Amino acid sequence: EYKKKTKKDTSHSKPQKTSYLTFFPYEHFRRDQERIIKQIEKASVEKKNSLLAAPNGTGKTIIALSAILPLAFKKNLKILYLCRTHSQNTRIIKELTKISTHLRYSDINIKVNGLSIRGRNEMCLNEVLLSLKLNPRESMAVCSDLRKNRSCKFFLNLIKKRDQYDNLINIAPEIFNKPVDAEDLIKFCMDKKLCPYFLSKFLLKDMKLIICNYQWLFNPFIRKFKFLSFNRIIKKKLIRFPENI
Ligand code: SF4
Repeated sequence: EYKKKTKKDTSHSKPQKTSYLTFFPYEHFRRDQERIIKQIEKASVEKKNSLLAAPNGTGKTIIALSAILPLAFKKNLKILYLCRTHSQNTRIIKELTKISTHLRYSDINIKVNGLSIRGRNEMCLNEVLLSLKLNPRESMAVCSDLRKNRSCKFFLNLIKKRDQYDNLINIAPEIFNKPVDAEDLIKFCMDKKLCPYFLSKFLLKDMKLIICNYQWLFNPFIRKFKFLSFNRIIKKKLIRFPENI
């Protein structure tokens, strides 16, 4: 049986030391899950790579998250989780949300947040840029011109917010202190007339888990112009966890 821990379960309340048991949000482990989690946790501590190939339904995502979150918190690291599709990104956010809810219900004072991010063309709200249907390189140039000319209201609104808040999480702490899917961040920005692309960029430094597609790491153009600039913003070491290569 694979059910969530109940609200009354406080068996891991206020732990001195975290382990995979602190983060695992379900009542029972599926077959082999605990053994694999322990192996990945040990390998991560020893700075070794792990390769997990298992059929659907094994619970690979929760295995990975439960195994590496203790180390990420202990060493103050960020986790970069790479997926193939947007729907996989959303699944990671859903599992992370279960962990976040479990920690809150179990009275464990650890906040797990995370953000799935997308490219400029998929997040931009500016009608001019969208109407041009450009490739990513061209979009970057047009976006830059729009910002320089102060012609993008979404970016100007965001900069105003950034001047008002010392931490942009405080624009909507009830949303950004928890795992957020790119889709939800875009909806929030449509409502508030803010640029989702730059908001996600500004929020990265405060996110424990960053979820994006492989191409952010493997495509040389994106790596040069996007991933590395994100990496500079993050200014922290990363644990990289690719899924379904
Ligand atoms: S600043 Fe944001 S909303 Fe404006 S053009 Fe660039 S990506 Fe689009």
